[in-house]
Amino acid sequence: MVEKVALVTGASRGIGAAVARRAVAAGYTVALNYRRDETAARSVLRDLDAAGPGGLLVRADVGDEAEVVGMFETIDRELGRLDALVNNAGILFPRSRVVDVDAARLTELYRVNVTGTFLCCREAVRRMSTRSGGSGGAIVNVSSVGSKAGGAGFFVDYASSKGAIDVLTKGLGGEVAADGVRVNAVRPGLIDTDIHDGFGIENWVERVAPTLPMGRAGTVDEVADAVLWLLSDAARYCTGSILDVTGGG
Ligand code: NAP
Repeated sequence: MVEKVALVTGASRGIGAAVARRAVAAGYTVALNYRRDETAARSVLRDLDAAGPGGLLVRADVGDEAEVVGMFETIDRELGRLDALVNNAGILFPRSRVVDVDAARLTELYRVNVTGTFLCCREAVRRMSTRSGGSGGAIVNVSSVGSKAGGAGFFVDYASSKGAIDVLTKGLGGEVAADGVRVNAVRPGLIDTDIHDGFGIENWVERVAPTLPMGRAGTVDEVADAVLWLLSDAARYCTGSILDVTGGG
């Protein structure tokens, strides 16, 4: 019998894959969401199956409402419960100033980063909330230090999408605080992952890392540890909280 289940979105690589590995180590059965790269997702799943309760692959574009609803129904059917949700899936477009941003880019960025997070929160709360017969749960949203810094000259569009995540975290956290559901966020700084590959600046991570207070980029495991803490009972009095994981930046 499955004891506790966590859905991690965008878990085929990067921070999401690290969260999925940490979640299995903490005893969760993981519903591992990916959008495109099934081979990469299967490789993470093999690690989960070898390390603990294992997992289930659930393909869905988080910005597509029908696919999100289908993903949660698959989890209901295959795993029978949901205790934790990590809204990690997110995209970043190549560097741009606001004067060069068009509507198509904004629409896609907000569809994935904002609408996707809202839809997954909605489906999770419907299952977890004691108000609707659930037994409680915890949600962690993955924001970005960009929401504080603004991303001037590089990614104001992306930073503003993460600002929406901060507000969602605070607002939904208050909305369901009395219903057994905690909603928190991590706000990573510069983390060495593939998300920077299409950013349009050669060696972005290597160039920025020495300018940070700790003098280095963060690792995916350092973010995953913060996520797992927020999901855990050790964080039972935290909701609507945003934890910076930025090496002081
Ligand atoms: P990454 O290596 O590019 O991984 C992103 C993951 O999200 C991939 O598994 C990707 O899967 C998935 N994804 C993208 N769009 C999706 C969609 N519509 N539906 C479902 N899955 C989708 O990025 P990362 O650096 O690990 O970033 C993870 C999160 O951390 C993002 O929210 C990002 O904004 C945030 N963050 C990252 C940094 C950093 O410096 N790396 C800093 C602050 C915040 P597919 O390829 O299959 O689409």
